[in-house]
Amino acid sequence: MKILVANLGSTSLKWRLFDAAGGSERLLHKGGFERVTDYPRAIDDCLAQLREAGHIRSEADLAAVGFKTVIARGVSGCVALDEAVVRAMEDYSALAPAHNPAYITGVRLFAARMPSVPLVGLFETAFYQWIPEAAQRYAVPESWHAAGIRRWGFHGASHKFVAERSAELLGREDVAERARRLYVDGGASPVRDPALRVISLHLGGSSSITGIRNGVAIGNSLGMSPQSGLPHNNRVGDLDSFAVPYAVRALGLSIDEVERQLCKESGLKGVSGVSNDIRDIDAAAISGNAAAARALDLFVHEARRWIGAYLVELGGLDALVFTAGIGENRAELRSRIAAGLEGFGLKLDAARNDTVRGAEGEISAAGSPVKAWVIPANEELVVAREVQRFLQSGRRPG
Ligand code: AMP
Repeated sequence: MKILVANLGSTSLKWRLFDAAGGSERLLHKGGFERVTDYPRAIDDCLAQLREAGHIRSEADLAAVGFKTVIARGVSGCVALDEAVVRAMEDYSALAPAHNPAYITGVRLFAARMPSVPLVGLFETAFYQWIPEAAQRYAVPESWHAAGIRRWGFHGASHKFVAERSAELLGREDVAERARRLYVDGGASPVRDPALRVISLHLGGSSSITGIRNGVAIGNSLGMSPQSGLPHNNRVGDLDSFAVPYAVRALGLSIDEVERQLCKESGLKGVSGVSNDIRDIDAAAISGNAAAARALDLFVHEARRWIGAYLVELGGLDALVFTAGIGENRAELRSRIAAGLEGFGLKLDAARNDTVRGAEGEISAAGSPVKAWVIPANEELVVAREVQRFLQSGRRPG
């Protein structure tokens, strides 16, 4: 069964093609286009590449196209992307302006281009369906909560992969199996004592931290929208809600301009004044740019704040895991984020940390009771697995 996983950005189309059968998946092909202005053409070119590489003869060879969809009103989990779900995504486009419009466009184009191929979305909120109610609520009036003003959590596919893989690496096949089967049985598959406690740090253009107990998320630093939590590349992260009306009145900004500045001119870019890319910010900080150094300090501070929160919530820790562009590649930031945690049982190995880059590897010192790992993000694989399950469960769209 061939499953194409499409990753859509506002100006990019990336894909991976998997051959999925009997619970195992083989990556057949991956590719992508940046600076896309003509989406229909990009989709045609993607299919042409898959044909030329001999993986499909026509789109009829695809069992489904899977999407790492972000958020929709009243919808989560792994679902058929029919018109009702696409409209529910539209309802929440304002919460994820960098993501939802791109997915909506892409899904509609795929539907028009290949009407007989099932289109299936694994929502980024899906991993947080079982977080405790206290971690879902904002302290707003009930009518606001009922209107959907609550914490959701995102990067679900990435953190779910970390939940599975970290359990495998720590020799806890029972927990790995619970994590793998999470969307089938809601975390009911049995595990033995003691509980496995993991904090997963997805640090990239967009960043979030998740506490995971026995393969199931207990919370995520992202809230109602992917604009909260840690500072992101150009998006703000956590901000006191009263700062928004204050900025409207005191700075004379329209609400649209406040929104634009918070999601395009803030985050690491806003604080550093240099770039939205950690590589440029790092280089500027090294050459003495104080604003760039401040942006990095803020990023490290916020990451540690969330580690502290989940450390307490989990009642201790077995592994700290770094993933995504920054987590996989920036040893210096990893060591700053994990510094001084010896009292909690975690000691990094400086030499190991310096060598692990863009690949899986342990970065904790020999004998450190708490382990630290780099696990490369593998979100598309999680999507492909769930799409495969979705198709096999008979919940076929149509
Ligand atoms: P992501 O959103 O996961 O692609 O991560 C993007 C961020 O990770 C950017 O701030 C990049 O600076 C950083 N990053 C990605 N790849 C690398 C790399 N190979 N070396 C250093 N930094 C990287």
